[in-house]
Amino acid sequence: MTRRWAGVAAALAMSGALSALDPGIMPVAAAPARSELRAVPAAARPVAPVPAPPRKIDCRKRKCVALTFDDGPMPSTTKLLKTLAQKKVRATFFLIGQNVKKKPQIARAELAGGHELGNHSYTHTDLSRASASRVKSELSKTQSAIKKATGVTPKLMRPPYGATDSTVASVTRKMKLAQIIWAVDPNDWRDRNSKTVERRVVSATRPGYIVLMHDIHPTTVAAVPNIIKRLAAKGYVFVTVSELFGKPLTPGKKYSKR
Ligand SMILES: [Zn+2]
Repeated sequence: MTRRWAGVAAALAMSGALSALDPGIMPVAAAPARSELRAVPAAARPVAPVPAPPRKIDCRKRKCVALTFDDGPMPSTTKLLKTLAQKKVRATFFLIGQNVKKKPQIARAELAGGHELGNHSYTHTDLSRASASRVKSELSKTQSAIKKATGVTPKLMRPPYGATDSTVASVTRKMKLAQIIWAVDPNDWRDRNSKTVERRVVSATRPGYIVLMHDIHPTTVAAVPNIIKRLAAKGYVFVTVSELFGKPLTPGKKYSKR
């Protein structure tokens, strides 16, 4: 245990991560308790998380639903990640590039939790009103931010407001990004009421649907435990967007359900 901890500590020291940690957790004489080892925050680990391989879930035969969360990462995302981990549910996060730049450790935690990451533009601009070069820069800056934070390059994007056009289709095709829209929208950004969000999502969900929510709203994050409980009771399996389709998606094409 002591040797293992020493190895971790040495790796952290080399990465410079230990300078930010409380020196009180450093071992002096006795080996640290297991809980102390776990106390090293994920962001302090020097190695990038490994993306979880897609599971073999046949959504032609099972009642699948893809929960998706937009506009993060934000501090409220961390609580959602705890809920999803407790319930062993995988989701898909559509990330704003400038937020990834501010909170790279939360983007890493999303990936480490087995979730899928997608591109939601850099500044949350309406891409259907932007020039082709602006669309390209919004998306490529976000691809770079996500790659830098997590080591992965998304294959999915969601246009802000679901607003897309032929220019967005053409740019996303060239950038090898499928456009992911949604089939269920509880308007959780407008109605900040957990019970309302829960009721709308549970009543509108059908097998193969993609559900839009926003992890930047604490009211939505608070609705998720009951949404999962009630949909699971109806026999739903929670999958990422890529798992929902079970095959590579066509770049540039729009998808809202399987
Ligand atoms: Zn959005």
